[in-house]
Amino acid sequence: MPQPPITFYGAHWCPDCHRSRQFLGEHQIPYRWVDIEQDSEGERYVLQRNNGKRIIPTIEFSDGSIMVEPTNAELAAKLGLKTKALRSHYDLLAVGGGPAGLTAALYAAREGLDTLVIERAAAGGQAAITERLDNVPGFDEGIEGALFGVKLRRQAERFGVELLQAQEVAKVHSHDNYHCIDTADGSQYSARALLLATGSRYRRLGALGEESYIGAGIHYCATCDGPFYKGLPVAVVGGGNSAAEESLFLVKFVERVTLLVRGEELKGSQVIREKALNHPKIDVRFHTGVVEFHGSRGKLSRVTIRNNQTGATEEIQPAGVFVFIGQTPNTAFLQESGIRLDRWGYILTGHDLVHGAERPAGYEKREPSILETTVPGIFAAGDVRAGSTKQVASASGEGATAALLVREYLKIT
Ligand SMILES: Cc1cc2nc3c(=O)[nH]c(=O)nc-3n(C[C@H](O)[C@H](O)[C@H](O)COP(=O)(O)OP(=O)(O)OC[C@H]3O[C@@H](n4cnc5c(N)ncnc54)[C@H](O)[C@@H]3O)c2cc1C
Repeated sequence: MPQPPITFYGAHWCPDCHRSRQFLGEHQIPYRWVDIEQDSEGERYVLQRNNGKRIIPTIEFSDGSIMVEPTNAELAAKLGLKTKALRSHYDLLAVGGGPAGLTAALYAAREGLDTLVIERAAAGGQAAITERLDNVPGFDEGIEGALFGVKLRRQAERFGVELLQAQEVAKVHSHDNYHCIDTADGSQYSARALLLATGSRYRRLGALGEESYIGAGIHYCATCDGPFYKGLPVAVVGGGNSAAEESLFLVKFVERVTLLVRGEELKGSQVIREKALNHPKIDVRFHTGVVEFHGSRGKLSRVTIRNNQTGATEEIQPAGVFVFIGQTPNTAFLQESGIRLDRWGYILTGHDLVHGAERPAGYEKREPSILETTVPGIFAAGDVRAGSTKQVASASGEGATAALLVREYLKIT
C-alpha cells in the first residue's frame, strides 16, 4: 500500500497534536502517525529536524518540508484548503468558536438567524485543548476536551451554523447599522449583529531568554507538556491559584516542584494553597522571580532566579519550567473598533458602560443590554468579557444569553 504523503510526529497526550489531527481528520487528509513516546526513531527524527528540541506536532510533507506546531490557518494554507464563507453578509457573526461563540451560534441558528462563526484555530476553544472537563453540566463522568469541542461544533452545524476555521479576524469596524470584520487573509464579512467571543491566552514572563526556550524547557500548560518530565525536577512560576493547582497536578509524575512566588504569599483558594504548601514534593520559594533562562544546544539547562528582598541571585537546574501568571484577553484586533476595554484589555459590557463612565454614543434612548459593548449591536461573551468567570459552563451560558439579546436587538433595528 502506498504511504500517505504526510507524516505526523506527535504523542497521544499532546492537545496541540489532537487539534492538528482533528483538523486533518475533518478534512479527510490521510497521514502516517508516529507517536514519539513509542517510536525512538521518530523521536530522534523530531530532535534532528528541530535543532535538538523535542517539539510536537512536527509534520512532514511529501515535498520534504516540515511544519512545527502549525496553526490551523498555516496547515490550511499548506494544504490549499478552502476557508471562505458562502456569503458575505449574515444576521449574526460570531468571532471565536469556543463554548461562548458556538453556543450563541447554535441558539441564533435555531431561531432562524443566518449565523457565521469565524474561528482562527479549531472549534471548541480552550475547552477543546483541555485534557478532561469534569465540571460541565450533563457530562456525569467528565468528557475529554477534544471530544467536547467536536460535539459543540456538530451541534451548531446541525442547526445550520456556518463555521470557518483557520481564519483569524484582524479588524472590526462599523458603519450605519452594519458591523464588519476583516480577516487576516483579506476577506470581509458584514452582519447586523456581532458577537465577540475570542477568549484569552496564557501570559509570558518577559524574562531574558524566555522566547528562545519556549517548547524546549519552558511551558505554559502542564496538561499539555507535563508528561515530558516524568521523574524529573521542574519549576513552576506564579503565585495564584493556577500555579498552585498546576504544581499539585505536576507532582503526580515529576520528581519534585520548586514553586517560585514573587510575593510573600500564595493567593487563591485556601484549600489549594494549603495543599501546595504542605505537599512534601513542593518546595515553595517566596519573594523569588526569574531573571534569565539559559540553555545549551537549543534546550533550557538552567535558570537564574533572584530573591527580590535580599537581591541575592542563584542558579537552579530544573528540567523544565512551567509559567502560570495569568491570561491575556484576545482583544488586540479591536484597537480601532471603538469598543471600550478595561485596563487589562477585557471587553466592557452593559452596566459597566454607563455607571461611573461616559455614556457611549448610541445609548441616548436606551440602556445597553447586559452583554452589549460600547458599540450598539456588538456583544461580548465568555472569557474575553470583563467580569467573566472563566469556565466552560459560564461561557456557554453567556453565549446563550447573548443570542437571545441579539434576537431582541434585531427587532429594534
Ligand atoms: C488548560 C485549561 C484547562 C481548563 N479546564 C477547565 C475545566 O476543567 N472546566 C472549566 O469549566 N473550564 C476550564 N477551562 C476554562 C475554559 O476552557 C474556558 O473558560 C472556556 O473555554 C472559555 O470559553 P470562550 O468561548 O469564552 O473562550 P475560548 O474557549 O478561549 O474560545 C475563544 C476562541 O476564539 C478564538 N479566537 C481568538 N481570537 C480570534 C480571532 N482574532 N479570530 C478568530 N478566532 C479567534 C480562539 O482560537 C478560541 O478558539 C480550562 C482552560 C484551560 C486553558
